[in-house]
Amino acid sequence: MTNIADLTLAQLRDALKSKSITSLEATDAYLSRIESANPLNAFITVTGDKAREMAKASDEKLAKGEGGPIEGVPLGIKDLFCTEGTLTTAASHILDGFHPRYESTVTSQLWRDGGVMLGKLNMDEFAMGSSNETSFYGNVINPWKREGDDTPLTPGGSSGGSSSAVAARLCAAATATDTGGSIRQPASLTATVGVKPTYGRVSRWGVVAFASSLDQAGPITQDVRDAAIMLRSMAGHDPKDSTSVDRPVPDYEAVLGQSVKGLKIGVPKEYRLDGMPAEIEKLWAEGFAWMKDAGCEIVDISLPMTKYALPVYYIVAPAEASSNLARYDGVKYGHRTDNYEDILSMYENTRAEGFGDEVKRRILIGTYVLSAGYYDAYYLRAQKVRKKIFDEFTDAFSKVDLILTPSAPSVAFGLGEKSNDPIQMYLNDVFTVTGNLAGIPGASVPAGFDKNGLPLGLQLLARPFDEETMFKGMYALEQAAKVSARPKEWWA
Ligand code: GLN
Repeated sequence: MTNIADLTLAQLRDALKSKSITSLEATDAYLSRIESANPLNAFITVTGDKAREMAKASDEKLAKGEGGPIEGVPLGIKDLFCTEGTLTTAASHILDGFHPRYESTVTSQLWRDGGVMLGKLNMDEFAMGSSNETSFYGNVINPWKREGDDTPLTPGGSSGGSSSAVAARLCAAATATDTGGSIRQPASLTATVGVKPTYGRVSRWGVVAFASSLDQAGPITQDVRDAAIMLRSMAGHDPKDSTSVDRPVPDYEAVLGQSVKGLKIGVPKEYRLDGMPAEIEKLWAEGFAWMKDAGCEIVDISLPMTKYALPVYYIVAPAEASSNLARYDGVKYGHRTDNYEDILSMYENTRAEGFGDEVKRRILIGTYVLSAGYYDAYYLRAQKVRKKIFDEFTDAFSKVDLILTPSAPSVAFGLGEKSNDPIQMYLNDVFTVTGNLAGIPGASVPAGFDKNGLPLGLQLLARPFDEETMFKGMYALEQAAKVSARPKEWWA
């Protein structure tokens, strides 16, 4: 049998269609890999029985020459997506025992297209974090290690289960979500590809809400082609999400390999941070050289509002989170405290027990910036700056087709290194939050390694709904960077 670990999603799809492998074989191979990868803690729930059932149904279709575009392909699902009848936790104690009665639009589209669910992936609690250290279900470990050094490293966050599982080949591809960088930063730290689509491209229905005006789902995959295949299945208009946009979903795979000649690539000078590691600076310059060799024109641009992006994000995101998380009251979902005298103490103690420290911090900040006395000074002002960030991108995209930046300001760091320093942790998203604030698409592509052998990604940002140009650029970057190294299987 073909070694599943060596196949990309696209190769697996083709092998399934040509019947050289069955979905059940692929599913069993992944399930046994997941079992041997327990030390990575990438999954919160493994749905082995369901996976085999789905795989058998796929095999019946495949045997008749039928089935969807990803028929029989085993996938990992971030535990922020509601899955009917399957425990959905958002990695929070407060959602203990929550078995949704409905399926998120994204996952139902993946099943419609033939995907097989292997299980639910670990993440930061309610997607708040950059290191997957805020999960109630424990840290996720990055399959990558520094050469000659055993320190456990973060796979990034909040989609750390997704990035770790894809990097360790525990699933053919994974779903993830990105509110400030949670698809792109973990992808950068694990040599995987991560795509955050335009706001409105993918339905948020059935995805546990963090900050509704920023949240967007997308894939984490082994390569650019796989991301194109996944996004096509995940995207599309959904009447159940009023912010989802009614535009046809292009065949993103079809544009891969098309020439990028003549594309203008912007270099935003504000993304050159003080104290940024020289290796990242060097890789970024290499990225421009690759794009230039492919026929692109490199154009200097300026995005002066960039310095306000993180402060704006840490007002807007907690404000929305404080409102979204008000629903967890011990009545409607999950955990309820045993320790109460009246309804108020039931609410208070349930929330005190159910939420972790980072989530509480966000609720406190969010409630503060929305309070009557501070609304204008913080929330309203942040919204105004957010609009300026959007305007700046609109202006930049009148001059360039794509913007190239590093994906993250550092390689994977050690667990515990930043977990007691929220500001250091928040800085992880300095290159990615602007994309969420402006609603534009962004993607991270593996581009190289640091001196210790740890992966580094480069980010491409594109015009709203121009994922096709972004994919063309991503493919060109991937071809030039030729990143093929894989983490050593120390856990097996
Ligand atoms: N790291 C950021 C935060 O903690 C972004 C998280 C995300 O994109 N979900 O809020």
